[in-house]
Amino acid sequence: MSSILARRTFLAGVATALSAPTVLRAGVEADTDVVVIGAGTAGLSAADALLRKGLKVIVLEARNRIGGRAWTESETLALPFDQGAHWLHNAEVNSFRSSARALGLPLVDASTSNLQLYRQGSPLDRTASGRSFSRAEKQLERRMGSQISSGKDVAISGFGSDDLWQNGVIGAAAFSMAANPEQISILDLATLTDGGDLAVKGGYGSLIARVFARVPVRLGHRVAALDWSQSGRVKVSGDWGAISARRVIVAVPPTVLASGSIIFTPALPLARQQALAAFHKGQFLKVGMRLGLPTEALAEYHADLDDLAGGRREVLIADRFDPLLTLIASDDTARDLAGQALDARKAYAVERVSALLGSNVANSIAATTSYDWASDPLAMGSYSALPPGAADARKVFAEPLSDLIHFAGDAAPTPYAVTVYGAYRSGVNVAGKIASLKRSQGWRAWVAGL
Ligand SMILES: Cc1cc2nc3c(=O)[nH]c(=O)nc-3n(C[C@H](O)[C@H](O)[C@H](O)COP(=O)(O)OP(=O)(O)OC[C@H]3O[C@@H](n4cnc5c(N)ncnc54)[C@H](O)[C@@H]3O)c2cc1C
Repeated sequence: MSSILARRTFLAGVATALSAPTVLRAGVEADTDVVVIGAGTAGLSAADALLRKGLKVIVLEARNRIGGRAWTESETLALPFDQGAHWLHNAEVNSFRSSARALGLPLVDASTSNLQLYRQGSPLDRTASGRSFSRAEKQLERRMGSQISSGKDVAISGFGSDDLWQNGVIGAAAFSMAANPEQISILDLATLTDGGDLAVKGGYGSLIARVFARVPVRLGHRVAALDWSQSGRVKVSGDWGAISARRVIVAVPPTVLASGSIIFTPALPLARQQALAAFHKGQFLKVGMRLGLPTEALAEYHADLDDLAGGRREVLIADRFDPLLTLIASDDTARDLAGQALDARKAYAVERVSALLGSNVANSIAATTSYDWASDPLAMGSYSALPPGAADARKVFAEPLSDLIHFAGDAAPTPYAVTVYGAYRSGVNVAGKIASLKRSQGWRAWVAGL
C-alpha cells in the first residue's frame, strides 16, 4: 500500500451431555462449539486460536484448498506465483514475518521506494522522480489531513489538482485500494495504517497454508444456509448435510455475503444488508509471466506517471526471488482486461513489458497466467474499499448477531483492513471474544447457548 494512503474432546463430550434438549432433524451433526465458515486467513486464524483454547471447532470451506485469496499457485508457471496476496504489508507488526523466519523462509524488502517511474515510455531519473513523488505525497497528506479533521467524508478524487505528481499519488493510492478514486472514502482510508512491505520466498499463500496446516478443515463444504431462529443454536447447512453449533464465525468476504449466496433465517437486519452492499467489488487483476532472464537487475516496481494520473492504473512488478514479472491492473483498468479473452489479456501484458522494459525482456517470456477474482463466486472481488458516506460499514460488518453469529475477515475494522494481516487480526479478535463469552457466561450457560 502507499503511505497514504491462534481441544478439549473430553469437555466437548460433556457439553453434548449437558446440552439443553435441542430437537434436531435426522442428518444434523449435533453440537459443536464453533463452526467457522471459510478457510481463508481470517477463518483459519480464528479456528487456530479457538482450538488452542480447547474449544471444539469445525471449519467448513467451499474450495478444495485453504487460504482463500492468499493462494500460491505453482503449476502454471512451474514457479510459485501468488495469484492473490503477495506482500506482507505492515511488516513492522505483521506476525507472519516471524512465522516465515521460524520456517526458515527468506524475506526481502519490497517497499515501493524501489520504483521506476516513466513518462510516455521513457524512464525518469529515479532519484529526482522519487523526490517529486514523496513531495507530492506529503502535500496531498496535508490537504487530506485538514479534510479528515473536519469529519466530512469525501472521495479521494476530490483532491485532484492540476499537479501531475499529486494526481499520480492519488492514482497510486487508488491502485493500491483496487478502486477508482471516486469510490474511496477519505474517512475509511484514514483508519488504515501504513508500513513496510516484505515478500517471502515461496509465496505468501504458501506461507499461510504452512502456518495453519494443523487446523483441520472440511474442504468442498460450501455453506448455503444459516438458521439462527432457534434459541442458543445455529444450524449450518449445505448440500453436504447440516451441523448444529453453539457459535458460528462467518469468515467469507462481505461482497459474497451481499450476493445472498448464504441464506440467513431469519434474514440479516436491514442495516447490515445495507452495510454489506456498500463494499466495493475491488478488482486487482494480475498477469504473471515467467522469464528466461534473471530479474535482479530490474527495479521492483515500474509505473507510468501519466497513466497513474490519467486513469490507467497498472504497475509492472519484478519478483525478487524468481525470474517472474507481474502486471497488476486495478479496478476499471482491471475490468477492461478481465473483459478480454485470456489470450488477449496475456498479449496485452507482454506488450506492456515490451514498452517499459524492452523487447529483449518481452521476448524471453516463456509462460503466462492470470486469475480473475471478480468472477470467482467465492471471492467476488479482490478486496474492498468503501465509498464516501459508508465509512461505518466495516464496524457494522463485524458486529455479532445476538452473540451467536460472529463475522471476521479482511473487511473488519482493524488498522490493517483489506490485507492478509488484517484478516488474521480480525480472526484472532473474534476468537478472543467467543472465548471470553464462554468464560464470562460459565460453562453451563455456554452449553445452553444463553
Ligand atoms: C489479486 C490480489 C492481490 C492481493 N494482494 C495482497 C497483498 O499483497 N498483501 C495483502 O496483505 N493482501 C492482499 N490481498 C488481499 C488479501 O488476499 C485478503 O485481504 C485476505 O486474503 C482476505 O482473507 P479473508 O480470510 O478475510 O478472506 P478469504 O481469503 O477470501 O477467505 C474466505 C474463504 O471463504 C470461503 N467461502 C466463501 N463462501 C463460502 C461458503 N458459502 N461456504 C464455505 N466457504 C466459503 C472462500 O472460498 C475463502 O476460502 C490481495 C487480494 C487479491 C485478490
